[in-house]
Amino acid sequence: MPFKKLQADLLFDGYRFRERQVLVLSEDGKVENIIEPDAAGGDTEAIAGILTPGFINCHCHLELSHLKGHIEEHTGLPAFVRQVVQKRNFSEANILAAIETGEANMLQNGIVAVGDISNTLHTLAQKQKKTIYYHNFIEAMGFNPQVAESNFNAYQQVYHQFAAQFGPQQVSITPHAPYSVSEPLWQKLIAHDNNGLLSIHNQETEEETLWFQQKTGGFADMFRAMGFNTDSFTASGKTSLQTYFHQFRSQQQVLLVHNVYTTEADLAFIRQTGNEVFWCLCPNANQYISSTLPDVAMFVKNKATVVLGTDSLASNYQLSIWEEIQTLRKAHSDIPLELMLQWATSNGAKALKIEDQYGSFEKGKRPGVVQITNNEARRLC
Ligand SMILES: [Zn+2]
Repeated sequence: MPFKKLQADLLFDGYRFRERQVLVLSEDGKVENIIEPDAAGGDTEAIAGILTPGFINCHCHLELSHLKGHIEEHTGLPAFVRQVVQKRNFSEANILAAIETGEANMLQNGIVAVGDISNTLHTLAQKQKKTIYYHNFIEAMGFNPQVAESNFNAYQQVYHQFAAQFGPQQVSITPHAPYSVSEPLWQKLIAHDNNGLLSIHNQETEEETLWFQQKTGGFADMFRAMGFNTDSFTASGKTSLQTYFHQFRSQQQVLLVHNVYTTEADLAFIRQTGNEVFWCLCPNANQYISSTLPDVAMFVKNKATVVLGTDSLASNYQLSIWEEIQTLRKAHSDIPLELMLQWATSNGAKALKIEDQYGSFEKGKRPGVVQITNNEARRLC
């Protein structure tokens, strides 16, 4: 069988850089080997820059792609959410066209797999083309305990449609955020069949901490304005993460998304839970919504398992993991690129439970090949 032999200035294998080594692929993109240049023979293709396995985008909402450029920046989270909810006057044709463009954008930027939040069925047709791998997180929210049952039934309908197409291993019913899911709704989704991989928006805003610690702040105002009865909610005096996390079952793998207000004590708390937890950072969305960034140095210092996400085009100008890395590098030039690429590839693949095919150049995998040159990333094969 004819092989493709690629030799870049630097080869990132999913874990570390290897200088001048040659990546050998079968014709259909399967990794055969990584070899020394001397052993490669004469038919090696020289590639400028870095070669890396395809990027894993652990957090996106592809169905919100039509909101690109429609949401005002730097408003803070409560106002951001209000804007997203209010902008409903888009035709289905517009929504579907934007989904197609959004996916093409990811493909171009070297993304091969996505953890995608879906509240609706809008993305189903595009995903059926199987251009990119998706784990579909059907997102449940509802603060009112009285409607938990009917809410959950609606999410189950969406779940079944995705599961029929992709199989249950690529679909979960997942909580939106700690402040937006009532106790009975939590119970239902945690106990749902095949829910071994879950995702939740975590500590995205300081208001979330204030709500759980003291029952004050922007969420208290928002719930009052929305007419919700919050009498049954009592402040725990602890951070949100330390308040809600025990609701997950110990065998559930959890993607915590954003983590802007996560503390060192929260990291220590998670270590003793025994759950497999991945810390997903979406720096461009944090900048867009609140001009903030998570404490990246703290995650590195504590050797936390970090992964990356783009969030949606409602709070980003592109869907590109390489652009997320650029933003982190501007703020943290001391964190090695090698480590960030690991977040974007092998860690991301583990977070979506697809490390048997994606995330590294190991024999037998088909992770996709991305070239980084002139500070741009593009899918090579
Ligand atoms: Zn999100």
